[in-house]
Amino acid sequence: MADISARDALLYAAEDRVEACIGRRLKRWVQVEAFVQMVIDDEATRDQFTTLPSKIALVRRSRSATCSFALPGTAMIALRDGSWTSLVVLHEIAHLVSPGSDPHGRTFAGTELWLVRQHCGFTAYLELRDSFDQSRIDYREYPWQR
Ligand SMILES: [Zn+2]
Repeated sequence: MADISARDALLYAAEDRVEACIGRRLKRWVQVEAFVQMVIDDEATRDQFTTLPSKIALVRRSRSATCSFALPGTAMIALRDGSWTSLVVLHEIAHLVSPGSDPHGRTFAGTELWLVRQHCGFTAYLELRDSFDQSRIDYREYPWQR
């Protein structure tokens, strides 16, 4: 949505490095919908993020769209065709549950790490965290409230 800052570019690069080896490629839109529903329905995720919407509106963007994005105020996620992976979906869900003035800041990165650990597994979490470390991306890891 906003201009891409140097930090945003680092985060995207860190995600791109691991995207092929973590999470799942969601080949069909129904798989995207099912994955989002699975995250919403997960009790641990609901406990961790009380701001998780009980319903998320999903919108398909064309393949030529520049990006996927989330609109926290409306619990809406728009996904670019060709970018349907669990990592992209979790990135956008992280925006919904950690809204604020610092969209790709350390709280966001920690939220994404938690979601990847919960929904893609511990190995995927380690891969992403290592990639964040390589890019010197700051993250504030959960759990920090309990
Ligand atoms: Zn983002």
